[in-house]
Amino acid sequence: MADYVPFCRPDITEAEISEVVETLRSGWITTGPRTKRFEQEFAARIGARHAVAVSSCTAGLHLALVAAGVGPGDEVVTTPYTFTASAAAVLHAGARPVLADVEPDTANLDPAALEKAITPKTRAIIPVHIAGHPCEMDGIAAIARERKLTVIEDAAHSLPATYRGRMVGTLSPMTVFSFYATKNLTTGEGGMITTDDDQLKERLSVFGYHGMSRDGWQRYTARGSWYYEILEDGFKYNMSDLQAALGLVQLRRLDEMQAARARIVSAYQEAFADVPGLVRPGARQEAGHAWHLYILRIDPEALTIDRDRFLDELTARGIGVSVHFIPLAHHPLYQRLLGVRPEDFPVAESVYRASISLPLYPDMTQDQISRVIDAALTVAREHRR
Ligand SMILES: *Cc1c(COP(=O)(O)O)cnc(C)c1O
Repeated sequence: MADYVPFCRPDITEAEISEVVETLRSGWITTGPRTKRFEQEFAARIGARHAVAVSSCTAGLHLALVAAGVGPGDEVVTTPYTFTASAAAVLHAGARPVLADVEPDTANLDPAALEKAITPKTRAIIPVHIAGHPCEMDGIAAIARERKLTVIEDAAHSLPATYRGRMVGTLSPMTVFSFYATKNLTTGEGGMITTDDDQLKERLSVFGYHGMSRDGWQRYTARGSWYYEILEDGFKYNMSDLQAALGLVQLRRLDEMQAARARIVSAYQEAFADVPGLVRPGARQEAGHAWHLYILRIDPEALTIDRDRFLDELTARGIGVSVHFIPLAHHPLYQRLLGVRPEDFPVAESVYRASISLPLYPDMTQDQISRVIDAALTVAREHRR
């Protein structure tokens, strides 16, 4: 299809390309000066004391759990309405993910369901800010304080998001961002952990790089030495300077890219207002939404087709669509390991059955935006009950 509107496209300009080429010519391509600078600039942008760059958000979640001392015999409560990585990281740490249902409007972890899921074995909570809308962090933090649990936020969607005027990345002991190809800021693959805690920062650095007492950059420069010690059974989760080169330029362009996302979201919100069969995503008053995803919901009462048919109709009109997310209880792995079934999480299930993610990326053209809108309105109109 010549004028197919892709679901997603990374926004890479000549500035990113030159920075990567310069890095290639610099003689230092893995973790080094650019990674250091990316960590510093990211921490400054978020307003966190430390930022530790990692190879992915999945690696970062695993590393954060290890740094928090979570291991075999422990439980970590997270949401069924997320990508597998949020729960898989818990398995990687040797612990057991426990799923708690979500709130109907945001599809984010419900503090009341979280409270019910806590047992004497619970050590940590992983809330996920779905689509970039922050979770009810006051409620979650209060439960964590009372039960002495560590909160590790999965902020894969929420750069830059705010909750009651505070940046996501400063609200909990550790917050993990993703720079995967589809995310609001990309390094191809990559992630970042923010923390204000000096001790956690040290543990993240050591466990994230072979359990080593100093990193390669320090070892091989004139100021360093050949000597190192292995302190812990660590991992190889460092970011390379090639990735950081992309990240540094993307971070400088973040506001511009977010402004473009906001313009597209406004166009969608305006077009889909008061359309029978379509339910727009909202934002709570306390939320500064990062708009990683635009998740439109269909109202099955008002239409003669279900979500799956609606998706097929959009695809047939050349619109790239997706579904975020297939709840974890649908996947054989979690059914097998945790004994969960989709019906155990009725809210997640009903959100899933209604949700359609529409294309949303900074360099969408006006024509592409209009085509997405026209297609969605046409499908809704043609299948009105
Ligand atoms: C993308 C994503 C991740 C994984 O990020 P990677 O950087 O690819 O490891 C984790 N959680 C959520 C909710 C995501 O959407």
